[in-house]
Amino acid sequence: MTLDRALAKAEAGERLDRAEALALYTQAPTHVLGRLADAARARRHPEGIVTYIIDRNVNYTNVCVARCSFCAFYRPVGSAEGYVLAFEEIFRKIDETIELGGNQLLLQGGHNPDLPLAWYEDLFRAVKARYPDFKLHALSPPEILHISRLSGLPPRAVIDRLVAAGLDSIPGGGAEILVDRVRRLLHCYGKATADEWLGVMREAHRAGLRTTATMMYGTVETLEERLEHMFRLRELQDETGGFTAFITWSFQPDHTELASRLGVAAEATGIEYLRTLAIARLVLDNFANLQASWVTQGGKVGQLSLAFGANDMGSVMIEENVVRAAGAAYCMDEVEIVRNIEDAGFIPKRRTMHYEVIGDPVFRERAVPRMLELATARAAGDTTVPAELARYEARSRVGRAARGQSPPRS
Ligand code: SF4
Repeated sequence: MTLDRALAKAEAGERLDRAEALALYTQAPTHVLGRLADAARARRHPEGIVTYIIDRNVNYTNVCVARCSFCAFYRPVGSAEGYVLAFEEIFRKIDETIELGGNQLLLQGGHNPDLPLAWYEDLFRAVKARYPDFKLHALSPPEILHISRLSGLPPRAVIDRLVAAGLDSIPGGGAEILVDRVRRLLHCYGKATADEWLGVMREAHRAGLRTTATMMYGTVETLEERLEHMFRLRELQDETGGFTAFITWSFQPDHTELASRLGVAAEATGIEYLRTLAIARLVLDNFANLQASWVTQGGKVGQLSLAFGANDMGSVMIEENVVRAAGAAYCMDEVEIVRNIEDAGFIPKRRTMHYEVIGDPVFRERAVPRMLELATARAAGDTTVPAELARYEARSRVGRAARGQSPPRS
């Protein structure tokens, strides 16, 4: 029987095929899946360390032309609620991150047609000039594709230009489910097909960058399609070895088109999350690190993740805008993350984006302000338009008018 064979292979740490993974995912009891994933985690990380990073999720703009149906964060071009952060605002966020012991920004945003490649290059150069050791984990594959389409340059040329300006690594956002049937239904096929997402990651790895990989599940996909997503990542990892980690989370439905118009309103449960994480640890046998997504699942399920294959608690985060827009607002500062790791029986260590351990908790070395809620991109109602935007050519009619640029030729 497939399930028996799958159980034996998982127990022995052997590679699973699609049928075996499906048998485990659909038929194995949850505690068995957890035990197998925990054993796979322990084979990779026998020292009992659970890592985390102190960084900040900064969304440089919420203006987006992609309009994915699962997204509650974006605002259309011309919306009064649309924003672009000023370079100075981003510097202030970096200062606050450094004060908390952080070493990196996770910088992502909407597909804003009025931010050309030069804006990103200037921002990255300005950050590196002020903070030479600070890392930029920035621009998911669909953002790279968006800039590529705006600039007319191939994705690899965009990556090379951004690396020259200071890009250090690429986050795995925008993957959702890497199956085009699902991507069409989620209105995200246009921003990146499955092949395009994987293609950008392949180019990034060839350019010497390390990246993460993600999966958002719980919308319109089947269990087979979730597994297909994992197998496609496993294949690319066999080819390039460029992924540092895998992070999965469930669709957050509040305020999304998918929930209000299309009726996908129920969030996946905690057990479904833990089973999905566990099967990912078993399928992704060439990924060293799996993160716990406490920001979508809450601290308690996040902590349980450490018994279902995760070896990393992700990020202290400091700021979050995307998940909060869809109704989840969990917060854990470094003290809370460390408490959860130690209570689960592991040793907490700070890490870099490359998963190199850099030390013990900062708050045990010096006084650090407690953080009881995550910051937002901007205070509500702040509609400031950064002065430096006038230097960049806008693409949209609204953007060109706002910057005093002549309308585009039709
Ligand atoms: S998920 Fe990203 S690309 Fe899609 S609408 Fe939201 S901001 Fe835009």
